[in-house]
Amino acid sequence: MTTEHKKAKTIAIDGPAAAGKSSVGLALAQRLAYLFFDTGVMYRAITLLALEQGISMEDEDALGILAETTTIDVQPPTGYNDGRYYTVLVDSRDSTWALRTPEVDANVSYVAAHPRVRLALTAQQRRIGQRGRVVMVGRDIGTVVMPDADVKFYLDASLEERARRRYNELVARGQSTDYEAILADLRERDRLDSTRAMAPLRRAADAIYVDTTGLSRDEVVEYLLGLLQAREEVSSS
Ligand code: C5P
Repeated sequence: MTTEHKKAKTIAIDGPAAAGKSSVGLALAQRLAYLFFDTGVMYRAITLLALEQGISMEDEDALGILAETTTIDVQPPTGYNDGRYYTVLVDSRDSTWALRTPEVDANVSYVAAHPRVRLALTAQQRRIGQRGRVVMVGRDIGTVVMPDADVKFYLDASLEERARRRYNELVARGQSTDYEAILADLRERDRLDSTRAMAPLRRAADAIYVDTTGLSRDEVVEYLLGLLQAREEVSSS
C-alpha cells in the first residue's frame, strides 16, 4: 500500500467582507510556510490613490489607468510591531494602514466593479498565484483568478458577527468607530460585490463552504488544516 501525497499548492479563500479570510488565510499560510496574498489590498490601493487624486469612482478609464500603472508590492511585516499582517507599498510608499480607513472601505466596491480595473489587477494576481505555495484571499479567486486552485474554501459568517469582528478590530487599533455604521457599510459592500456584472462574489461550485459564525480564528484554521490533511492522505494500492 502506498500513500499518494496530494499536497495543495494553491489554496483559494473567498467570502464576504470581514468573514475572517485575512486572519485565517495568514495563519494558514504561516502553518504551511506558504505565501499569503490578500488581493483586496490591490483594490484598496487603487481606491486610496483615486481619493487622494480626486478621481471619481465612476471614471473607469482614469481608474483603469491607475490600476495598469501603479506598482503594488506586498512584503512581510518585518520591522513593524503595530499589528500589521504584511506591509503594502503603493508606488514605494508604505500605505498599509491608509488602506484601512472608513473612506476606503466605503468606496472600494465601486472601484472594484469596473472591468478595466479588474482586468489589470487580476492579471497581476494570477502571475503571483501561478508560482504556487500560496494562500490567496479575495472574492473571485476560486471562480476567476485561479479557477484551477487545488483547494477552494468559501468562508462566511452572519452579517452581525462580521460587523462585531470589524468593530472589535478597530477598537483594538484605537480608532473611534460606530457599530451601526460598520453594519451598514458591510451590508452595502456585500450587495455591491455580489451584484456586479464582472466576477461577482460567489462560491465556486467546488469550494468548501465554512460558516465561521461563533468560531475563533484558531478553530477555523485547525478545521481547514484538518480538511487539507484529509485530502492529502489519499491511499492507493
Ligand atoms: O477583502 P477586502 O475587504 O480588503 O476587499 C476590499 C474590496 O475589494 C471588496 O469589498 C471588493 O469590492 C474588492 N475585492 C474584489 N475582488 C477581490 C478582492 C477584493 O472585488 N479578489
